[in-house]
Amino acid sequence: MKTWHYDHLTWPEMNEALAREPQPVVLIPFGAVEDHGPHLPLSTDNDILAGILEEVGRRAAGDILILPTIPFGLDEHHMDFPGTIAVDIETCLAYVSQVAISVARHGFKHILIVNGHGSNHSIADLAARKCVIVTGAKCGAMSPNAAIDPSLCADVLEKGRRGGPGSVSHACEYETAMMLHLQPDLVQMDKAERDISQQAGAYFNWDLGRPSSIMWQDWWSRISRAGVAGDASVATAEFGRELWEVTVERFIELCREFRTFENPPRVDHHTK
Ligand SMILES: [Zn+2]
Repeated sequence: MKTWHYDHLTWPEMNEALAREPQPVVLIPFGAVEDHGPHLPLSTDNDILAGILEEVGRRAAGDILILPTIPFGLDEHHMDFPGTIAVDIETCLAYVSQVAISVARHGFKHILIVNGHGSNHSIADLAARKCVIVTGAKCGAMSPNAAIDPSLCADVLEKGRRGGPGSVSHACEYETAMMLHLQPDLVQMDKAERDISQQAGAYFNWDLGRPSSIMWQDWWSRISRAGVAGDASVATAEFGRELWEVTVERFIELCREFRTFENPPRVDHHTK
């Protein structure tokens, strides 16, 4: 296949992609435009998504098709910071689920909503479930951004992070390192700061490397003075490259595994 861009195909080429065995997995990136401290741009979540997905697409073209990024997400809680774009819960859920359902209606059987912004997590999960219920396709949600879900690079993150407990949450050591690798011209390291003042306890922790039993989100201006939760000051491009490389590699494995999951017919066990 000549491209990994879903929307660069013509409709006859789309028919060819649908007929291929096995079919490509279709990825729907879902990001945000929001504050990321005084040192990172509002585009950080979308930039990290793009930086990972472009390489995933390039290395796995043929196995993966990627839609244009849905650039805005659930962000009302960041509106105290200038520039953030907020879309409400109902609109986000309706919009993202209808994109996924459109893909499934054409006959794609394996679809992933790829989330790049922490607060989109529940929306991405519910949109995927809606797609499954409406179409029967396999549709799931995941995030390759370790400040949302560290599972793809947890070992590398834990071993290499220098900021200690509290250093990875938002506009943090992880996100700053990734941006130093992917978009160094957009990072102002002289303004990168450490803010690990967020409350933590035995059952809740903002740090993404630590277990948390409570799902909770608050007005961001109550959590952080400058929009940083973590330690941006210790981030390096080298660490970003290491995290990016392992994430890209495992993301491709994840997609190739996901498309082996079959869609058996449902069974109706009612007797009447
Ligand atoms: Zn972010």
